[in-house]
Amino acid sequence: MSFRSHNLGSNQCAAHEARAHRQASSSSCYSPQFPCRHRQSRKGRQQMTGPQSTSTYIHCSKREVSANGVNGDKSSSAANNDAGHADSPRKHSLATRLLHPPKVTQDPYGAVAPPLYQTAIFDQVSAVRCGPYDYTRSGNPTRAQLEAHMADLEGAARSFAFASGMAALSVVLRLVRAGQHVVAGDDIYGGTSRLLAQVAPGLGIDVTNVDTSDPVALRQALKPGLTRLVMLESPTNPRMQICDIKRLTELSHEAGALVVVDNSILAPVFQQPLALGADISMTSATKFIGGHSDITGGILSVRDPELATQVYFFQNAEGAILGPFECWLAMRGLKTMALRMRRQAATAAVIARWLAQHPLIRKVNYPGLPDHPGHAVHAAQASAGGSLLSFETGSTEASRTIAEEAQLFKITVSFGSVSSLISLPCYMSHASIPAEVRASRGLPDDLVRISVGIEEPEDLLQDLQQAMQKAMDRIGMTAQAPAADSQLTAQTDREQELLERVEVLEARLQLQDKH
Ligand SMILES: *Cc1c(COP(=O)(O)O)cnc(C)c1O
Repeated sequence: MSFRSHNLGSNQCAAHEARAHRQASSSSCYSPQFPCRHRQSRKGRQQMTGPQSTSTYIHCSKREVSANGVNGDKSSSAANNDAGHADSPRKHSLATRLLHPPKVTQDPYGAVAPPLYQTAIFDQVSAVRCGPYDYTRSGNPTRAQLEAHMADLEGAARSFAFASGMAALSVVLRLVRAGQHVVAGDDIYGGTSRLLAQVAPGLGIDVTNVDTSDPVALRQALKPGLTRLVMLESPTNPRMQICDIKRLTELSHEAGALVVVDNSILAPVFQQPLALGADISMTSATKFIGGHSDITGGILSVRDPELATQVYFFQNAEGAILGPFECWLAMRGLKTMALRMRRQAATAAVIARWLAQHPLIRKVNYPGLPDHPGHAVHAAQASAGGSLLSFETGSTEASRTIAEEAQLFKITVSFGSVSSLISLPCYMSHASIPAEVRASRGLPDDLVRISVGIEEPEDLLQDLQQAMQKAMDRIGMTAQAPAADSQLTAQTDREQELLERVEVLEARLQLQDKH
């Protein structure tokens, strides 16, 4: 038998195999008198024939990066009649692959939910040779299953699951040695900002923050030969600026730097950084992968196998792994990720348009709006505007009132939950950035950030409307707010989605014309 795991490759143990055989032959599931339904052939599927078969273990090396890369989630053209066959050269769309991961664990019972290996250690058959797993920090089948699934979704050689997004980013920082240099955006996640401003210097790492929506600024910040890492976010958080991932990656590679894209806001459903050339994609599983605000986790997906080996070294050496149960919850979250994210993005687009008309709002930051300065670049590299948006009212008092009076929006940091969330970043997620730095980066105190959940769009709009009315009363503003029902929400979600796709295609054509 071949008991190959995603993590440990061909690291096999003959004695372990022998025991697995013994166990398998005594198991009723493999007895001819006790036929197992799960072993029967289904049209277009590979058979599960017990541990003797290697056919169910699909290696990441066999996986192909989606031909249409960035828009893997909407490749309806990739769907074909025999696409269910694992050897088919055409891949299913991402939404389907969320439900059909490559299998790397061995399960004789055909469990539809992945088995949970809630164990720290694994009994070895031989005292001198190791089986595929020995200690959960080094490898665990449940984590291997999640990591293989993420690698498939991201088009990575390998993915790695960590205890949090920050634990994942800390490992990325380990790839930089003392004396080397890092370039990062100037509107980045608060925790990343703290890591770079307060941890990196102690490691002897020099950091430059630049406006990554401007390729010229990035080029000027790069120190060829010295810059080891460029950390990008697009959209940025919380101002939702867009950077041209492909262009910046080319510039960074020319200078000899690795590129990591923090893709937490869009996740692979809407944007696939590795297909745009990035070396590492980071997604905080605390956000859309978990989706229900019940886990923390972070995933690194690495394009190059050698770089992946380095990342694995640090994952194992420093040990900030994601525990088996959290991996299991993350896999449960993955199944509905496309469904949730599409619904959340469609509602966010409606809310963004409504806010843009509201007299209390000075500015709405949402890359799905056509007048967003990064709209065309965003449309070319992502397939939706996402469900995170921010806006300015010009008054901290008004912003605070909106956050506190909105009943359906929980006042909290974070995003990507099925529940709608609201926050004032300068007082919450980004409070660790000193006030003067925030000011210099154009991060105003009255900025409100909304993460749109899966509630009924009409209810969210009505709730925002009443909260904003109270905010206007509070600051003595009299103006007519746009209706929260009627024409805006009359469009069905489907119409909305179609319109957005047309916009994306148009923008891509425009961009092609320019090149
Ligand atoms: C949340 C977040 C992180 C950190 O992830 P944790 O799981 O909270 O450690 C990093 N980057 C971005 C953009 C995030 O939103």
